[in-house]
Amino acid sequence: MIKALVVDDEALLCELFDDMLTEMGYDIEVAMSADEALETLRKTQFDVVLLDLMLGPVSGFTVLEKIRRMYYPPMVLVMTGYGSTDVAIEAMKQGAADFIMKPVEPNLLDIRIRKVMDERRAQRLAITDGLTGLHNRRYFEERLDEEIHRSRRYDRSMSIIMIDIDFFKQFNDTCGHLKGDDVLRKLSHILQDHTRETDITARYGGEEFVMILPETSLESSRMLGERIRKAVDEAVFEGEERIPAKNITVSVGVSCLTDDEGGYDALDRADRALYKSKQAGKNLVTVLTKEGLSQE
Ligand code: GH3
Ligand code: MG
Ligand code: MG
Repeated sequence: MIKALVVDDEALLCELFDDMLTEMGYDIEVAMSADEALETLRKTQFDVVLLDLMLGPVSGFTVLEKIRRMYYPPMVLVMTGYGSTDVAIEAMKQGAADFIMKPVEPNLLDIRIRKVMDERRAQRLAITDGLTGLHNRRYFEERLDEEIHRSRRYDRSMSIIMIDIDFFKQFNDTCGHLKGDDVLRKLSHILQDHTRETDITARYGGEEFVMILPETSLESSRMLGERIRKAVDEAVFEGEERIPAKNITVSVGVSCLTDDEGGYDALDRADRALYKSKQAGKNLVTVLTKEGLSQE
């Protein structure tokens, strides 16, 4: 069921939209001011927001701006009165997905919402790893650049963690690829359980994962790496009793961005740290600084 928030300062219109869209099978909430809309958006995750731009004292553009900065923003469909095409265009420049003229024709609105939802699904698929539901490598690489700029601009630390499953080929050979896929999914859940909203966790390749941790020091990320290593070590994975090593574990590499280097240098260092964890016997966390390394 598509969850939509209707934002309009006219009570009668809100009621009308609510009835009409509920009838069409949408899950509707309404907000009658920008403040109320923002409050509702903070509490609940919506798929789409139907936004009237003329909201009295606080403009709909303020709501649009806040939505754009959300971690996983809903799509915005702007509703404008006759003759305000300029406003609609401006809204779309600022991130609205589409606009519709008032008075709204119900079937047209229905079609527009569904189109916008298709767009959202496609956007999501393009950045998602199909097996685990984590972000994919393409998304990771895009965000790495963004996060580096951000950390530079605000002079904040940023860490990278790389994770690779130990002896995974052996597991697949013994238990089969389907059980191997289950391991990848379960591991993804463990990773997600250990991250904050602002962290970016992606599947980097086959059985290799990577995390960007904005505003995180090297020491905090080492501790996080260790918590993840321990959680995987302790988790029970179906089939693991059949492999000679008898336990699914991961090796971890941690690095932190320094002032004078690019993000790919930090990524490369995390990768080398991971390699050192493998060399030193696996199921280990290695931190690699520009000066040297410390091991756990
Ligand atoms: P190491 O401890 O050194 O990391 O050894 P490893 O066996 O884990 O690493 P290697 O790179 O030799 O093999 C990786 C294995 O990961 C090979 C492949 O069967 C498995 N793998 C990669 N992608 C997938 C996947 O999508 N599903 C499953 N089931 N297995 C995968
Ligand atoms: Mg491996
Ligand atoms: Mg590998």
